[in-house]
Amino acid sequence: MPHITLRDVTKEYPPAKRGGDPVVAVDGVSLEIERGDVFGIIGYSGAGKSTLVRLINALEPATAGSIEIDGVDVTRLSATKQRQMRTGVGMIFQRFNLLNSRSVRRNVEYPLEVAGWKGSDRKKRAVELLEFVGLADKADNYPEQLSGGQQQRVGIARALAANPAILLADEATSALDPETTDEVLDLLAKVNRELGVTIVVITHEMEVIARIATKVAVMERGRVVEQGETYDVFTQP
Ligand code: ADP
Ligand code: ADP
Repeated sequence: MPHITLRDVTKEYPPAKRGGDPVVAVDGVSLEIERGDVFGIIGYSGAGKSTLVRLINALEPATAGSIEIDGVDVTRLSATKQRQMRTGVGMIFQRFNLLNSRSVRRNVEYPLEVAGWKGSDRKKRAVELLEFVGLADKADNYPEQLSGGQQQRVGIARALAANPAILLADEATSALDPETTDEVLDLLAKVNRELGVTIVVITHEMEVIARIATKVAVMERGRVVEQGETYDVFTQP
């Protein structure tokens, strides 16, 4: 069974103007993402990529179609079950979304705090994760004292805190320079390789897909217009 299955998923938003047409952000998308894949979704701004991520994470309901994780349709779960499901899905963002008022370690602890872990367990887990991302020496620093690449590595540590089986990376390297981008992508590859986490990489940058994704879906105006092994989808020199 695929890890994540989308069947004919559509998401419409209400018309921007009264009497206008609804905005079809995602239009009949079907995808199968296998366990352990690094799966890329590429497309220009407005193609529907972020909407697709929010649907997979059940942050918004789909208008039509089904989204299964491990064979369970997440669109039909109760709100409580959806919250439980979401703890098994880590997310990282273009703007990192770290809390500047908290130290690096306490940022990583944040989702565990929400999940009700006790202090000493949280701290132990956060330290372990900061070692994994190579930032053990920055535990007591504040996010603003770190470079962009380092901040994203903290974001990755936080996303992994609850030991998710899936990591959704939404334009996670778009705010970074090429060198730092490679560093962050190499870390994501390590997360995939060593922890077996299925990673979905959303990007508008071909280089990101070429470096990390083994499979790719190309989105245009809400539709997947091409998908397959990255090697087959992109022309080789
Ligand atoms: P991408 O992530 O590829 O840039 P998005 O998923 O953000 O694309 O957006 C796809 C389309 O859906 C765009 O036309 C966008 O304006 C529209 N859209 C996204 N979110 C909303 C929303 N909450 N309300 C209305 N329209 C939206
Ligand atoms: P943008 O893609 O425009 O930069 P953000 O990355 O700030 O937007 O946020 C994208 C979406 O993820 C928003 O709907 C936001 O509410 C949600 N979000 C932001 N931070 C978190 C978080 N730590 N955990 C879960 N969802 C979050």
